[in-house]
Amino acid sequence: MINCKICMKEQSSDPYFVMEKGHYVIYHAPVEKQLVGYLYVEPKRHVESWHKLTSDEKRELPEIISQLENMLYQEIQAERVYTLTVGEVVRHLHIHLIPRCAGAAIDGLELIQRAAGPMGTGQPVSKADIRQFIERIQAHNGK
Ligand SMILES: [Zn+2]
Repeated sequence: MINCKICMKEQSSDPYFVMEKGHYVIYHAPVEKQLVGYLYVEPKRHVESWHKLTSDEKRELPEIISQLENMLYQEIQAERVYTLTVGEVVRHLHIHLIPRCAGAAIDGLELIQRAAGPMGTGQPVSKADIRQFIERIQAHNGK
């Protein structure tokens, strides 16, 4: 869809691209969010709500989320993985996977609000940290 940030992104080679899985593409959140392991799961097609997903798209999604969640537990020793959709600013359906690791200064709604919002978590995270994480999970996925 024209003017959709997500549709536009998938047409270019985005530095935060992680992998494709079935009808979905997985991206890492930008460095400004300051959270390694923060992922977005986005349908390839422009879809704005759950009920607009096809049966194939609906069937695949829990499996994709469970694989990614498990990967976050293993790769960065996440203790919790929060999952949510908001769709207020960007209408194209996208599921946020927000990990909380041991020793995180903030958790729960505060972590979700900061990570998903414009301010970021306040942790020192570099582009290299994210690149390294993306490469690890691509290897993990056999890519
Ligand atoms: Zn879109």
